[in-house]
Amino acid sequence: MATRLYSPLLLALLLVVTAASARAADYELLYHAAVSPDSEVARVEIRLRGERLPRKLMLHLNPDRHLALHSDAGLTLAGDTATWEPQGPDASLHYEFVISEKKSSGRYDSLLTDDWAILRSDKLIPPITATVAKGLTASAELQFELPENWSSAAPYANTSKSSNHYQIVDPGRRLPRPKGWLILGNISSRQDSIDGVDVRVAAPAGQGERLQDTLAFLAWTIPDVKAVFPGFPEHLLVVTAGKPMWRGGLSGTRSLFMHSDRPLISGNRTSSMIHELIHVAAGINGGKDADWIVEGLAEYYAANILWRSGAVSDLRYQQVLDWKETWGRKADTLFVKRSSGPVTARAAVFMHRLHLALQEASDGAVGLDEVARELARDRGRVSLFQLKQIVQKLAGDSVDVDAIIAGLERGGSRGGSGHAF
Ligand SMILES: [Zn+2]
Repeated sequence: MATRLYSPLLLALLLVVTAASARAADYELLYHAAVSPDSEVARVEIRLRGERLPRKLMLHLNPDRHLALHSDAGLTLAGDTATWEPQGPDASLHYEFVISEKKSSGRYDSLLTDDWAILRSDKLIPPITATVAKGLTASAELQFELPENWSSAAPYANTSKSSNHYQIVDPGRRLPRPKGWLILGNISSRQDSIDGVDVRVAAPAGQGERLQDTLAFLAWTIPDVKAVFPGFPEHLLVVTAGKPMWRGGLSGTRSLFMHSDRPLISGNRTSSMIHELIHVAAGINGGKDADWIVEGLAEYYAANILWRSGAVSDLRYQQVLDWKETWGRKADTLFVKRSSGPVTARAAVFMHRLHLALQEASDGAVGLDEVARELARDRGRVSLFQLKQIVQKLAGDSVDVDAIIAGLERGGSRGGSGHAF
């Protein structure tokens, strides 16, 4: 029988790795928010505790929403930037956050009512540039102080302390910061584990009739989304609500908001829910003139995942592609700052054609999934240059991205038989 022996060096290395992963964080970072219908503002405290703290935090404020900043020491304000040099071992920064925000449509994308609040934690806590000594690690938590009968849902795991207390994970960030949608108050929610994802769907109490079918739709859909984007977050929170919330879908980190009037699958056989889910899964944004890549992927998969999961037939999927092609011709170009409507339809058609070209060039070995997966690998900003590099790596010179873009000008050529999706 062969015995596996670890060399002393390897053993020492293993011990070091184990010790490092078990090591406690250097300092504690607590985001504490008191929210109540008695006040239109959330009272926020950012508290740092530890012998060694970050040297400097620069908060990039929204002057309409972040008010009344104060700290015992080390705070200076210049324009919309607050610079805070926390003094250890226990330092606090306080401010107020205006919860409700009305969009120009007259609808809200953030709202506090007598019974609930829907908002985003990445607005509650503004973007922060931190100066942190190399290797200094934080244990970051988000805690809500709420009226007695209120509860909360956030896209993070609870700490053992209370159900309104969350452990923040923010990979790759020196200073972890909470992100994504929140719902607080008198709420209904349903929860399940779907393909390794802890999924929670939540709505204000009295608006939760569709939580269970939404959860079932996600159970039907997420495995196919995850097959394309294996980096899908471990937690997903879907917040839904009706009037006067904004009548659409909005993705956030590990979470999305969907107006409760929106069908899971629309009459034209695409799904806003899957569209937003792709944004959550990919976690990418468009660099200059590259928003069409982000929106095109979301819109392509919004129909493709339905087809792939068997929710629509080949015939119906082909009809969606035809319809997008017709609609996409209404746009003159993909290269706009914000892709929507016909530009996004045109971008989805591009994705479809790119998929067909890759399939043809590789005898079916690769397709758009490989491109999407690669684009989403670093969950950051994407560009046309990057897209071309990925295609080049997958298919060499046999697939010409520029030619496919130019080909969108020519109507009618679908470039593929009805079944070769
Ligand atoms: Zn979108």
